[in-house]
Formats: sequence, C-alpha cells, structure tokens
Amino acid sequence: MKKRSENHQTKKGKKKAPKERSAKSIDRLNQELQTHQIELELQNEELRLSQSLLEESRNKYSALYDFAPIGYFTLDPNGLILEVNLKGSELLQIKRERLVKTPFLLYIAKGDRRKFYAYQKKILKKEGAQKYEIELRRRDDSSIQAEVHCMLVQGPSGRPLYLTVVNDITDRRRSGETLAQETTKAEQGRRLESEFISVISHELRTPLHAVIGYTDLLLNATYGAIRPEQADPLKGVLKNAQDLLSLTDNLLDLSRIETEEIPIRLQLVDIPSLLKEAVAGVKPLAKRKSLGIRWILSDDLPAIESDPCTLSKIATHLLSNAVKFTAKGTITISTRNVSDRNGIEMLIQDTGIGIPPEKLNKIFNPFYQVHSGLVREFDGAGLGLAIVKGLLNLLKGEVHVQSDHGKSSIFTIFLPYRFHSSPHQ
Ligand code: ADP
Repeated sequence: MKKRSENHQTKKGKKKAPKERSAKSIDRLNQELQTHQIELELQNEELRLSQSLLEESRNKYSALYDFAPIGYFTLDPNGLILEVNLKGSELLQIKRERLVKTPFLLYIAKGDRRKFYAYQKKILKKEGAQKYEIELRRRDDSSIQAEVHCMLVQGPSGRPLYLTVVNDITDRRRSGETLAQETTKAEQGRRLESEFISVISHELRTPLHAVIGYTDLLLNATYGAIRPEQADPLKGVLKNAQDLLSLTDNLLDLSRIETEEIPIRLQLVDIPSLLKEAVAGVKPLAKRKSLGIRWILSDDLPAIESDPCTLSKIATHLLSNAVKFTAKGTITISTRNVSDRNGIEMLIQDTGIGIPPEKLNKIFNPFYQVHSGLVREFDGAGLGLAIVKGLLNLLKGEVHVQSDHGKSSIFTIFLPYRFHSSPHQ
C-alpha cells in the first residue's frame, strides 16, 4: 500500500497532476482500441474468406444446376415456374427469362394436362415423389415425350415448392415403338412362314402316302410278281418317300407348335404301356443293329393325366435318336415316380456316340445337328428334339439331357401327375 501511494507522488513527494493521469489512460485506451481493431480486421478477413467460399460453392452448384443434362423446374404451389435451368429452357426452346413466372401447364400437351393435375394433387396429399410420362409442347408446336419426377420441397420462406425434373425420353419411346413394330412384323413373318409350311406339308403328304402305298403294294407283289432286280430300286423309292413323309410330318408339327395349333386331349395315361408301344416302332431297326433293350420300371408309377398321342410322339423321337446314334450296346428305358415334385420321370439312355458338353444346350434348336458334316452319316433334319421340347412345353413337362461324349446319352422327361397342377408344388 505504501509503495502504491509513493507511485502517485512526484520525486519531490507531491501527488501526480490530473492532466498527466488522463494522458496515461488515453494511451491505454488507444492500445485497447488498436487491439480491437486488429481483432476486427482478422474477423473481417475470416468473413471475407467464408463469403468467397460460399460464393464459390454457390457458383459450383449453380453451374451443376444450369448445365445438368436434365431439365429442372421449380414451381410455386400454383404451378408457376420460379426457376428453370438451361436444359429446361432448351427442352422447351424458350429463353429462361421468358419461362419464369409462366404456368408450367402452358407447355403440357392438352391431352396430358389432367394427368399433370392428378399427379400434382397426389404430391400435395403427401403421397411422396411422383414419376410419370407426359407430352410437352414447344414454341414451334413440335412436341417431346417427357419423363417427369416431381417432389414437394420447402422453399426459403417455408412455403411448399414443386421440384420438377424433366427428362426427354422421345428417342427411347421411339426406339421402343420401333422395336414393338419390328417384333410384330417378325411375329407376322413367323406366322406366315408357319402357315406356308403347314399348307405345303399338307399338299405333300397326300401324294407321298400314295407313293408309299403303291410301292408297298408293288413290293408285296399285289400287282403281280416283280423281277428280283426291281426289288432294290423299289425299296429305295419306299425309303426315300418315307423319309420325305417323316420330314413333312416334322415340319408340320413344328409349325403347329409355333402357332399353338396342337390340340391337347387329356386322359389318364399308363406310361409303361405307352413306352412299350413306342419301343415296338423302333424295334426292327434296333434288332438290325443288334441293340439290346432293357427296362427298369418302377412299381409305384401312377397313371398320369396327359395326352397319349403327343406323349407317344415324344417317346418315338427320343427312342429313334437313341437307336440311330448307337452302333452297339443297349437302350435302357426307365421310369421313376418323383412324388416330391408331383410327377414322374421317363429316362431313355443309350450307349451311343454321345454329345460334346458344349453342344448340349444347342441340340434342342430347330435344324441343329451335332454330327452333320459333309458326309452325312445319319438321317434326319435336326427337328426331332425341337419338336420334343415344344410338345413337352404344351404338356407342362420338361426335358433334360446328360451325356458322356463318346459313350452314352440320357434324355430325361419329367411330366406332372396332373396337367393343371404346377409341377413344382
Ligand atoms: P435329328 O433329326 O438330326 O436326329 P434331332 O433334333 O432329333 O435331329 O437331334 C438333334 C441332334 O442332336 C442330332 O442331329 C444329334 O447330333 C444330337 N442327338 C440327338 N439325340 C442324340 C443321341 N441319343 N445321341 C447322340 N446325339 C444325339
């Protein structure tokens, strides 16, 4: 305390004059002021920096908005355009400043205006963002097909705004329409082709039956004995006519499958009996090639609801192939009850030339033959398996193939117990 009081005194021990004291406090105030000024400038600098950052990011976003490849329209609750980006004005071919404050509805084709209203209503009812397609009309009266995404957002003053994103889908629509037209044309072409095949096959069948019938009668000496040297040429005629008839029948079947003209007559079918009849048809050839026939029939095989005519065609095609592509060994025919899939399986297995793995998925295509080279070793036109697959489709069945190339092939057919029940129940 003593020291302090000394400080207020002059060397002569007198107290400081008030003038001297106020000069000191002005100094101090000055100093404080300077410090504040520096602080203020620093704060100002920071403010300028954040302002320029803000500007920069605003520029970035407005560039993104302006140069976006899709149109952005901000509409007020009455549907007036408040903001639009460059793409939006380009889509409508109207300058931005002329679009602003005009109703968006003006640019919608008359026929689609109700649709637009309906969606705006849905959005307002808080049903969430809506997506729909409308036709937009341009100034030159041309039009574009637009996909619109519209959602409700809160504007700066809290009032609702419609953010409307417009995508030009005119080309996509056009190519979709062209594709649809081309598909219809292709379908018409296929139908015509099938009809043509069907007519030609019908026309061919009658004379072919006559050729086969008369040749048979000649060979059986119905019109009198033939000379021995006549037998072989006549047999040649018979074989060729039969091959042609089978090709004609196959073509007819394939075209009927394509046009879905094969009638399905359902009845209860006993599979072993049906298979035995089909095997009887290929037995003569199997015998000539000394092939064995082996049966593995399951005892619990129920009769199934299916079409016996169609089924016997399927079995005949598979059995003929098994015999045709097997030089020696055995053809095994087996059946299985597949109760967990509500159906049965028939398997036709041979010990023939087999099919290379990479060809397995192609053999069901029409006219595809694995073993077709310049030298044609096997008869056929590559239609049998396409018919098998098509017919099984009609019967709600399936066909699968497995093969050990060079050793064997197994064709498995699955058929449901009941035609009208799904096999995978
Ligand atoms: P194709 O009239 O030629 O027999 P398919 O449509 O019945 O016509 O069969 C198509 C092709 O699948 C046949 O040409 C053959 O190459 C192959 N193939 C079919 N079945 C067998 C089989 N059991 N063994 C070996 N190859 C087969």
